[in-house]
Amino acid sequence: MKPAICQLCQSNCGGASVRAGGAGGYVEFADFSCLPDGMLGHPGGFEWFCSAHLSAAQALAYLPLDEALARLQAALADVRR
Ligand SMILES: [Zn+2]
Repeated sequence: MKPAICQLCQSNCGGASVRAGGAGGYVEFADFSCLPDGMLGHPGGFEWFCSAHLSAAQALAYLPLDEALARLQAALADVRR
């Protein structure tokens, strides 16, 4: 498994923000693929998001990870513009 770092803003919410009550979570995307039995690593299409981006990521979980991330990043860029 990868550490709990938001795929969108790269914030490491495994630290201070979790203690402040801002826990994020993992999202399974359309291209989620389990690792074969006995294999260690990180499954595909399965990423962690901070609390600020978790609901937006879950709303796009019907898409493959790459496309969902592209849309999330586009939305984030709009907000910052
Ligand atoms: Zn985030």
